[in-house]
Amino acid sequence: MVLSLFAASFALAENELNDTSNYKITVPQDNHKIAIVTASLQPIDRTFYMFRGANQLPKRWSTFVSNFQIIGEDKQLIPFTAMEDGSWQMSTLPQGRVTFSYQVNLEHEKYSWSGGVDGAAYSRDWGVFYTARSLFIVNGEERENINVEFDLPAHWQVTTPWERPGSETKRFIVPDYDNLSTSILFAGTHKQLSIKQGQFELLLALGGEEILAQEKEFVDMAQGVLQFYTDLMGGIPRLQIQDATIKSMVVINPSEKTDGEALGNNISILIEPDGDQMSQVIARFIFAHEFFHMWNGKSFTPQTDDTEWFKEGFTNYYTLKALHHIGYLNDESFLELLANFFYQKYDSDDGVGNLSMSNGELKHDHWELIYSGGMFVAIAQDMQIRSASNNEKSLDDMMRFMFDNYTDSSYNIGDVERALNMLNNDSQEDFFNRYIVGTERIPLAQYLELANIETIQDDGQTIFKIREEPDEDKSKIRSGFFDQ
Ligand SMILES: [Zn+2]
Repeated sequence: MVLSLFAASFALAENELNDTSNYKITVPQDNHKIAIVTASLQPIDRTFYMFRGANQLPKRWSTFVSNFQIIGEDKQLIPFTAMEDGSWQMSTLPQGRVTFSYQVNLEHEKYSWSGGVDGAAYSRDWGVFYTARSLFIVNGEERENINVEFDLPAHWQVTTPWERPGSETKRFIVPDYDNLSTSILFAGTHKQLSIKQGQFELLLALGGEEILAQEKEFVDMAQGVLQFYTDLMGGIPRLQIQDATIKSMVVINPSEKTDGEALGNNISILIEPDGDQMSQVIARFIFAHEFFHMWNGKSFTPQTDDTEWFKEGFTNYYTLKALHHIGYLNDESFLELLANFFYQKYDSDDGVGNLSMSNGELKHDHWELIYSGGMFVAIAQDMQIRSASNNEKSLDDMMRFMFDNYTDSSYNIGDVERALNMLNNDSQEDFFNRYIVGTERIPLAQYLELANIETIQDDGQTIFKIREEPDEDKSKIRSGFFDQ
């Protein structure tokens, strides 16, 4: 009996062993511009492939891969065909586990990326940035608990959004392919900082002198924004992952051009250190915008893209409020950014007045219609709700309502309209028919008046300005508009 139990548990352990996949990533001491990957797993099917992305290149991410080889349990090379789409196809499915290895050449910066190289991979003097999709060759539709180990040059550390199984500093467990395909990592002599809020951890990876000189500012900003959103929403993001702690990683490095991209729960930002004021503002705006998506976009998600104006536009509005709340923007710079960036863009888009913002596919060709237009809907609704309720209710209630009611099931445009009807205590059908489903321009000036903000035309420039004659009720609405 004892013996058979022992045999059974041994068989189980064997089985578990066969289910695991292990990766070891080596960055050689003498050449930081390559990564050598060795891995072992039991193939589920005949195809090895890399995750989505790099679609501008025929062979996608594998453009940067060389020396790929697969070895069977019998130590013999397993033949395969390199396919036109960048995947690798074994002629037969091997028995047992295989070992495979390859080299990733960090030359992504030599190519152009529509979303910027911040969503691909790059190197700096102090280390290397990889999106996991640029680094991992995988097999099978899904795998869980993937082991990843790093072998790095002396004095290097690695920042990833993954859990460590113990106190070992360079070994991690990735929960599944979904997590892996949207992960990012930075390995080098950069600075890693952790900001915690309950079960939520924000990991900052900062690199380069110029960025490190602003370390305190970035930490204060991240802390302030996290606190503002958590208070506003009434809790940390509710994401469907098994881990007890939700981790989000933010990488910030200097670059020639300010840019940013969100991948899953992670954010990759490049900042032009000598850039003008606007470029500094945009970098912070990108961070605070992508970060709010942890709630609006990830905790509660839309069914279809006819509510992109809500997802992107309302996020933009709360991004401005967050930057005002932490003191990065004051009333004047808030209004300036609204006028000189968002309104100007909206004004110069030929889609505005012709196309409906409920057409979500337009978000790439008509950014302004969706991102600025959606933001103006948020402002209009916030002003209207505050005005009708004597400033007792606001758009904040709408955001909390969505967070409380749609984290288990996704919402549609009707749900958004009903929530707004409820807060306005009045049907928004006409508003939706004209400005959201319809193509009419949003009369922003009319709504800003409710907060005693006037719209002035000066030499072709639109300026938003707080009226000098005070009005107590409107002042209350205005402080809600700026902040909370
Ligand atoms: Zn967004």
